[in-house]
Amino acid sequence: MRCPYCGGLDTQVKDSRPAEESAAIRRRRVCPDCAGRFTTFERVQLRDLVVVKKTGRRAPFDREKLARSLDVALRKRNVDPDRVDRMINGIVRQLESAGEAEIPSGRIGELVMEGLRELDGVAYVRFASVYRNFTEARDFGAIVDELAGDDGESGASGREGAPGEP
Ligand SMILES: [Zn+2]
Repeated sequence: MRCPYCGGLDTQVKDSRPAEESAAIRRRRVCPDCAGRFTTFERVQLRDLVVVKKTGRRAPFDREKLARSLDVALRKRNVDPDRVDRMINGIVRQLESAGEAEIPSGRIGELVMEGLRELDGVAYVRFASVYRNFTEARDFGAIVDELAGDDGESGASGREGAPGEP
């Protein structure tokens, strides 16, 4: 696994433990080159999901991107991260079990709206207000970018929230 800080390829696993009620394995890794520390997750992937944007462009479904947009929508809301992970797992399971490898981006947006409505009202409104601006384009990637701000979130991980959000 490549180090996200220096690009070194020789990172080492320091600790592995079950996460998300054993639906995943969480590994703490350290890079011997720059001493950077980061976390990876191993999860079952039943099939390769592809998101089809309104423009017809296709992109691999990116769980991390979805998680980042939810992180931003849930910023400073007191929501248990485990509940967020379970919600994401639920969305992925629904997508995987739908029987279609190609998923319209709008479908993902709808599932996120459903999930957030139960999880946190404020986050729901935040996501919905951005989502509605994009319902014409139905471009989920654009929603994620808009929610996350456009500073691209430089390397460092953490749940402190993205800088640059209004
Ligand atoms: Zn490194």
